[in-house]
Amino acid sequence: MLTLVSCQSDVIVPTLAQLSTPVPTQITPTMTATFTPTSTVTEAATATLTPSPTITDTPGVIIQISLTPSDTPIPPPPTQTATPLPEAFTFGHSAQGRDLLAYRFGTGQHIILLAGGIHAGFEANTVDLMNELRSHFALNPQAIERDVTLLIVPAFNPDGLTFGRVIRGRFNGNQVDLNRNWGCDWSENAEFNNGAVDPGAEPFSEPETTALGSLIQRVQPAAVMFYHAAANGIFAGDCETGGVSDELAQIYGEASRYPYGEAFSAYRVTGTAVSWIDGLGIPAVDVELASSSETEFNRNLQAILAVQQWIVGR
Ligand SMILES: [Zn+2]
Repeated sequence: MLTLVSCQSDVIVPTLAQLSTPVPTQITPTMTATFTPTSTVTEAATATLTPSPTITDTPGVIIQISLTPSDTPIPPPPTQTATPLPEAFTFGHSAQGRDLLAYRFGTGQHIILLAGGIHAGFEANTVDLMNELRSHFALNPQAIERDVTLLIVPAFNPDGLTFGRVIRGRFNGNQVDLNRNWGCDWSENAEFNNGAVDPGAEPFSEPETTALGSLIQRVQPAAVMFYHAAANGIFAGDCETGGVSDELAQIYGEASRYPYGEAFSAYRVTGTAVSWIDGLGIPAVDVELASSSETEFNRNLQAILAVQQWIVGR
């Protein structure tokens, strides 16, 4: 169930009420995300830009949303969600208190969410890619379809970014792997490269996953891409009650020329972001860049434009 609560009686966000959905039968931990409308971001993003401190951390609207596990059927997203997101906003904080930032481009009703850096310093080129895309769409707003909003989270795991390309750089401030902490097929025995990683004490135990899960349930994106490096391929989210992500993998794979259509098989993965989102009925894929150092900007730009066309043409 979406429970939307404003903690400030003088702050009105009327469209939040439109997102109410029928009550699912099971509820997992309640979480709180703070949406902080901010002043306009005027900086020019660059390839090396890390999340900017220009976002002021002022009190905002508290939105409490009960996360639902992905084995609970969820009705399809509403078709009209004219959600007036700010151009830049903080949607939560990391385990070590760093801002989780999102940037909006375009104002269309269909939201495409891109998240870089879930594995942070270990895959920092995905953060660079997100910042290059921010620069591109800031300079080329006409590239965004009228009915589309791009929402870019450049660095979903800012704690791990501080460690660089070492294994510690994959994890958040609690040393949890944020791509093993979501609510579909979560396991306490999580792996990376056939070694054990910490999936957190339970699904959504980490502030980063609860914050982004909350944002996703609030804005109901039409498609979601998480960026990784460097397994060279597009991997569809696949939750038992979902199975809606294969076409997105095909669209992205054909336009980008990354391989697609195969399940990730290098090692067992559990509790991933894209599978939880797939279980919500929202198409979601992991984009694994081919390199650990390059952004591969052009092929990803072409794929994002193709996803836009797919979304508006459906
Ligand atoms: Zn990764």
